[in-house]
Amino acid sequence: MKITRVEAIPFRIPYKTPLKWGLSGYLEAAEHVLVRVHTDAGVVGVAEATPRPTIYGESQASILYAIRNWFAPMVVGMDPAHTERIWSKFEGIHWNPTAKGAVDLALYDAIARARGVPLWEMLGGNSHRLSVSWMLGIRSIPEMVREAVEMRAGGFKAFKVKVGTDPEKDVQVIRALRENLGSDVLLYVDANMAYSVSTAVRTLKRMEEHGLAFVEEPVPAWDQRGRLKVSRAISIPILGDESVFTPQDVAREIELGAIGIISIKTPRTGYTLSLKIVNLAETAGIPCLMGTQAETGVGTLASAHFGAARRNVSYPSEISFFLSLTDDLLAEPIALKDGFIELPTRPGNGAVLDEEKIKRYRMD
Ligand code: MG
Repeated sequence: MKITRVEAIPFRIPYKTPLKWGLSGYLEAAEHVLVRVHTDAGVVGVAEATPRPTIYGESQASILYAIRNWFAPMVVGMDPAHTERIWSKFEGIHWNPTAKGAVDLALYDAIARARGVPLWEMLGGNSHRLSVSWMLGIRSIPEMVREAVEMRAGGFKAFKVKVGTDPEKDVQVIRALRENLGSDVLLYVDANMAYSVSTAVRTLKRMEEHGLAFVEEPVPAWDQRGRLKVSRAISIPILGDESVFTPQDVAREIELGAIGIISIKTPRTGYTLSLKIVNLAETAGIPCLMGTQAETGVGTLASAHFGAARRNVSYPSEISFFLSLTDDLLAEPIALKDGFIELPTRPGNGAVLDEEKIKRYRMD
């Protein structure tokens, strides 16, 4: 099988409510890129690239440029199954993680479709379903509690809470959520690196009293000593996200010993690097979860297949954000039941695209 063409289509789908995180994160819509890898066998692999200028320095325009001018010419004529060889070509261009990631995900999707197997079976075969959490963006305490209670009634048993703008309010949010959700719900916070070391220690110790399960990136990712100090002062694990973008980052953090859980984001590491990360983590006794990049349905399916396939992805994954979109490119919605994503049984990631919707939401 040979790759004949790579398509990159910019699209925009508004969120139901804007998403706020950390000190400056703010998004009103998914302005992402749909990637389709065409092959001479007739199968087409699909994936989604999620620009995050504040995190990776990529934009929708830069992703289109990188795929059309660099990565597509590298892969056309190659066998999509030669993912290691292809990734070593990608390494000739620095960074551009979600542009590379999306092409890589689409390659694996094409392979699985050609072989007639669902991706979760090709990637490890641990399970056909994945437990997911619900993420609460930064809003007023009553609004956050109301949303959580509603989602708890809908089957969610784990909640990620965005914090970092106001430590005192952050503690009160956790207290209010625990009081309203009961003791059997998993609660964790993501500070998106917004606390200082001393604020993190002081604030997290108070949150621990309300049964906080773990904390994601309390202090700036570059501050390894600070991260180690925080991890030694608190009794819950740190979940790594911004500090573990690459397998090399993961190896360094395992050595440092500050991180107890790892967030894997297939949009930024594709499957090729995500496999290296999950294996490194598992070998070091560090469980993982699938982190959200606020993907639409296509990206959610890609991530869900990976998480379901690997037994070391054992904490609830964050990839329920597609529920916050006003629409999707999928013809068949993702099946979510009692806090689990049930994967489609079709080959590949199982995504069936709605061509009408692609026409409606494309931006070029
Ligand atoms: Mg995060």
